[in-house]
Amino acid sequence: MRKKIVAGNWKMNLTLAQGEQLINDILQTGLKLAEGQEVVVATPFPYLTKAKSLLKNYPGFFVAAQNCASEKSGAYTGEVSAEMLQSVGVDYVIIGHSERREYFQESNAILAKKVDQALAAGIKPIFCCGEPLEIRQAETQNAFVAKQLEESLFHLTGEQLKNVVIAYEPIWAIGTGLTASAAQAQDMHAFIRSQIANKFGREAALHLTILYGGSAKPGNAAELFANPDVDGGLIGGASLVASDFAAIIQHLG
Ligand code: 13P
Repeated sequence: MRKKIVAGNWKMNLTLAQGEQLINDILQTGLKLAEGQEVVVATPFPYLTKAKSLLKNYPGFFVAAQNCASEKSGAYTGEVSAEMLQSVGVDYVIIGHSERREYFQESNAILAKKVDQALAAGIKPIFCCGEPLEIRQAETQNAFVAKQLEESLFHLTGEQLKNVVIAYEPIWAIGTGLTASAAQAQDMHAFIRSQIANKFGREAALHLTILYGGSAKPGNAAELFANPDVDGGLIGGASLVASDFAAIIQHLG
């Protein structure tokens, strides 16, 4: 069986004290993870070591960065390499979030390099894909997402793909309160899985965890997670409220 994951993407929110409080509050909800379920907390860079130490005695809880450099090391002022993340115990890294693509001009080609850096350092990429509203309205979302996958992931080997998680985040649903319907999410997740099967084989596709992101909350998580190809969620706003995040996690089933 493939892993089920709920990951919280804090984005550029919270102070260290607030982040610590949030993690402690999440742990204190007493939520129970079933076998094969994981919780990932994607904090800003300066809080990663603290988050890791708070979670170290909690099996199934992992830490993610929200980005990493596309180069291995060197004169890249302000960048943080995958190797550095690995050296402080980071487990996952979000790569290709639509906010990075849009505000920081991260192309599919740059993201392919970031995926390579993460894998080389032993960190699992959570690779984000998803279409803007005009593409959804033109009903060309499948071709759009297929190109994102092809250009950033299809150079990998099947072995490497085993360490990749994909997150489908339709841009029109992020932070807007507009969620993809359960059927829209399922359709796209099944399409992504079929693309992976065509390129890497059926086994690899069955093994792949595919998360949904975009205004996921306690009230819609059960319906989204009930879909056969939706293996959890990448949660923005609702991950900043301990009770909401815990409730979403419990909906993994
Ligand atoms: P929201 O859950 O706030 O819509 O954000 C989704 C997201 O971008 C997670 O990466």
